[in-house]
Amino acid sequence: MEKSGAERRRGVVLVPYPFQGHITPMLQLASILHSKGFSIFIAHTQFNSPNPSSHPDFTFLPLSDHLTAADTSFYNLLNAHSIMNKNCKAPFEKYMGEMQEHVACIIYDSIMNFVDVVANHLNIPTIVLRTNTAAYMHSHFAVFQLLEQNLIPLPESQLEEAVPKAYPLRYKDLPLSASIEIPEVVLDFIRSYMDIRSSSAVIWNTIDMVDHEPLQKLQHHWQVPFFTIGPFHKIVPPELPTSLMEEDNSCLSWLDKQAPDSVIYVSLGSLAIINEKELTEMASGLAQSKQPFLWVLRPSLLNGSKEATEYLREDFQNKTREQGLIVKWAPQKKVLAHRAVGGFLTHCGWNSTLESICEGVPLICRPCFSDQNVNARYVTYVWRVGLELENVSERSIERAINTLMVGEEGKKLRQRAIHMKKEIEHSINSGGSSYESLNCLVDFINSLSGTK
Ligand code: UDP
Repeated sequence: MEKSGAERRRGVVLVPYPFQGHITPMLQLASILHSKGFSIFIAHTQFNSPNPSSHPDFTFLPLSDHLTAADTSFYNLLNAHSIMNKNCKAPFEKYMGEMQEHVACIIYDSIMNFVDVVANHLNIPTIVLRTNTAAYMHSHFAVFQLLEQNLIPLPESQLEEAVPKAYPLRYKDLPLSASIEIPEVVLDFIRSYMDIRSSSAVIWNTIDMVDHEPLQKLQHHWQVPFFTIGPFHKIVPPELPTSLMEEDNSCLSWLDKQAPDSVIYVSLGSLAIINEKELTEMASGLAQSKQPFLWVLRPSLLNGSKEATEYLREDFQNKTREQGLIVKWAPQKKVLAHRAVGGFLTHCGWNSTLESICEGVPLICRPCFSDQNVNARYVTYVWRVGLELENVSERSIERAINTLMVGEEGKKLRQRAIHMKKEIEHSINSGGSSYESLNCLVDFINSLSGTK
């Protein structure tokens, strides 16, 4: 007999991978499910812990991860992943053992693979959250195929060619560099990330319309229900706090003083690092473009001891005082929604890409690694709402900014971006694909409440 609403287990436990680009969509999903009547528990590492006081409606379950600062530096991220998975299992099992009767399911980022072991042991259903596109996930099959055929490393000369059966990707768009030997530890990480293990379903922060074919191919591969309910950030209240760093809101009043669509916003997200040469080229390109800019220089952006703002010579800051503003961390979603922002020079992380296209802001793509390469290819070649930055030099940056902000091509890109924004809006309104899929997800979680 079906259980009544009151008897059903209404607790949902969410386990994010503790980096900004993964924590943000997990917290947004938590907010969406809370609005549908579920009780929310966030099981999180102490490293990069979300701030519980920002989310009074959620219960937070801290997991001792025993990570050191060195473990979480950019070059040790794969190491951090195995330490977390080893150390978080026991505390997580203890929480789940105590709460088991109230939990309908656990939703987790598949990088946190200890969840599956605990859930199976306690007979709790799981659902995987994918925080990137199906196109990116699917592109790994092309990499695995090349490895099976012993074709990696490929000669550099082949990187511009199309990958057979992986339209629209070229070899250079693959998420792992095909021109060098891929270390086994990286492949293990990807295999683990790809694996949905015993999950009953997959939730995607993407939109059927923008990711249709790859979703279909993956649906064929993982034969469990898919709930494609993005873009999450357009479903949750805009003020939902998700940032790990303090946002510098002063840039919003600076933007208020700028003309509509005049400002190029520049940010490479929360993880990417660049060298001093690229920083200098970017600075000169921005200055030479003469366009107003808002530039996020995260303290950890440079791979060295110096902060990026310290490294940039004072004369650059003096010379561009009237032209632009530099901040350490911006309220990005508000920035992209501001009428003054007309373009985004980005690393093409999926959250940033989605936040930009949802505001009709065209992009200049400077991907750094992983899914950013795939996203950049879709932005420039499939959706045609952005330009590819072929190489990073003062001239190429100046040219790309001027093409986007004041050129004829920029106008067309902006028109297409605005069209895409409207289509995405349809998908989250009543009758739209994401709207309907979210209703199905709620029914699905309710159906798990008394099962397994
Ligand atoms: N972000 C922000 N302020 C900044 C730069 C980035 O709030 O100054 C946010 C941005 O809105 C996005 C997230 O950080 O939600 C970055 O995620 P993304 O997937 O784009 O890239 P990642 O940081 O994972 O490489």
